[in-house]
Amino acid sequence: MPQTKRDYYEVLGVDRQASQEDLKRAYRKLAMQYHPDRNGGDAQAEQRFKEVGEAYQVLSDPQRRQRYDTYGQAGDGFAGGSGAFNFQSAFDLFDMFFGGSAQPRQRGGPRRGSDLRMQVTIDFQEAITGVNRTFEVTKPAACPDCGGRGAAAGTSASVCQECQGRGQVQRVRQSLLGQMVTVEPCPRCHGEGQVIESPCPNCHGQGLVDAKKSIEVQIPAGVDNEMQVRVPGEGAAGPRGGPPGDLFLVIGVRPHEQLVRRGMTIVYECPISVAQAALGDTIEVPTVDGPATMTVKPGTQYGEQVRLPGKGAPDPRTGRRGDQVVRLRVVIPTKLTERQRHLLRELAPPDGKPHPVRRGFFEHIKDAIGI
Ligand SMILES: [Zn+2]
Ligand SMILES: [Zn+2]
Repeated sequence: MPQTKRDYYEVLGVDRQASQEDLKRAYRKLAMQYHPDRNGGDAQAEQRFKEVGEAYQVLSDPQRRQRYDTYGQAGDGFAGGSGAFNFQSAFDLFDMFFGGSAQPRQRGGPRRGSDLRMQVTIDFQEAITGVNRTFEVTKPAACPDCGGRGAAAGTSASVCQECQGRGQVQRVRQSLLGQMVTVEPCPRCHGEGQVIESPCPNCHGQGLVDAKKSIEVQIPAGVDNEMQVRVPGEGAAGPRGGPPGDLFLVIGVRPHEQLVRRGMTIVYECPISVAQAALGDTIEVPTVDGPATMTVKPGTQYGEQVRLPGKGAPDPRTGRRGDQVVRLRVVIPTKLTERQRHLLRELAPPDGKPHPVRRGFFEHIKDAIGI
């Protein structure tokens, strides 16, 4: 199912022009408001806290923000590291703002399953229109023998005696500065709060075994190479009944024979004859919507561009489409008949000097060769 997430700017309650300072202020306020320490484990507040952290993490990084503005959520995570946000980072940010006063929390209870990544290759056209795909994924799933709990049949996990099920222990140390109290994950149960005395033989107490699953995913229209599509909850199952991780599809797009994509713009290099360039013509060019008719103006120069509005790739977030750019490449004939040679001499006999041009002639050439 396509991922529907709230807009990051909306999450932080700022407008799209917000400065770094505005973002920080908004984040700080919301992080305080929804911090799990203040909301007594309220799931909705925790969700909001994560959302706020994720939005800030992306928008506070100028590169990721730009990518987000251009491609939306699907673009986040594209080139340059994982787009996956983990809960712990929210605490790191929190520590950064509040001088490390917030203890990193190692909560009791089952851990979340890991995120999985999978490379998916789609056609150029499918990337433009979006596509529904079904994948066979082999991934850790809850063990059928113990129902994912990890305990052998007829037994169950018992509360950890070391931490009384809290999953964390306090340690008191003497230091030069006096007594220091730190909270650490419980070494006996590794923060889970419970201990399995007789592990399930099928999964060795992990509660997980590899299983095949068929997953149907709607890949949104407009995705591009290296973008990631997040499929929530389709990562590995959590060990011993924990919530599942997410599945990330890393998109690869097969090249098109004639069209090249640059973000939302599609480029077509269109060869035309000297006669078409000089006299003008109406020609048919390929687009992702099928062949389109366009006009070549009389007197077209090499490298001139014609824009076909709305024939480009869609923005995966808004659906708004870019343009197609047709670059006209005048093909100079290499084999001439005697008559053609004669006609060309008549047109402009070679005179040993550069051909005179009007002012501004070189502007579009610069554009065409990208300088
Ligand atoms: Zn098992
Ligand atoms: Zn323990």
